[in-house]
Amino acid sequence: MTEEMINTFPQTLTIAGTDSGGGAGVMADLKTMQERHVFSTAVIVAVTAQNTLGVQDFMAMPKQLIDEQFASLADDFAIKACKTGMLADAEHVHIVVENLRKYDFGPVTVDPVMIAKGGAALLADDAIETVKTELLPLATIVTPNLPEAERLTGMTIKTAADMRASAVKLRDLGALNVVIKGGHNGSDEVSDFVLLADGAEFWLSAPRVDTIRTHGTGDTLSSCITAELAKGASVEAAIRTAKDYVEAAIRNTIQVGHGHGPLNHWA
Ligand code: PLP
Repeated sequence: MTEEMINTFPQTLTIAGTDSGGGAGVMADLKTMQERHVFSTAVIVAVTAQNTLGVQDFMAMPKQLIDEQFASLADDFAIKACKTGMLADAEHVHIVVENLRKYDFGPVTVDPVMIAKGGAALLADDAIETVKTELLPLATIVTPNLPEAERLTGMTIKTAADMRASAVKLRDLGALNVVIKGGHNGSDEVSDFVLLADGAEFWLSAPRVDTIRTHGTGDTLSSCITAELAKGASVEAAIRTAKDYVEAAIRNTIQVGHGHGPLNHWA
């Protein structure tokens, strides 16, 4: 059998942290990718003890085990698109960057996860510089929320013009396409700003859904983008599909846990 006959099904990779509570991180990624009809592999960078009330503890994996996970996947699969999520600290950002330079896993969607909704830091402060200088130049797409965009650009983002300017800055830092998620702006209308590699730009707006059950929203958006890219969608089509997928998953939320519950991936 030829290689083309063995690896025919679209395959993705998520490089991220686990959520024992099942709602975010790698768990959200795999559910999203399954629903989008791609097969996903995973490199576990960190393990969290977590539920819908918050992150109680986490530990990042040793470098050797991370390198081995990448090598295992590169040996066997034909991964067409990948994403990064929780990367814990500067050392682990660097380990992931080294592996992304070593292997070709297709377009890289960088979800620059920093702080969980409950307030826990999922990325050490001193890792922001490593994300800017090492990871963003590898990003086909970067998907920060407003606080993450502020940390990465050093800008204060209050207006639509600020969002646009921060996207331009992220392009200058090396990301090819940028999605700034407006969910943290507090207004009734949630507007995300998209700046594409060819300079095209547009807004994606939807009415805010009044729910606290939005745990793993960012992971789900970036996973859906990754899944669509693996199936051959354009960056713009992947982003539009992902926004619709997340919107439906928030709107039809399920009742699980006492706090920030997970999205509904069957929506
Ligand atoms: N835990 C892990 C492992 C994550 O990757 C993320 C988000 O990216 C979170 C928790 C935080 O999820 P949320 O901020 O949606 O609660």
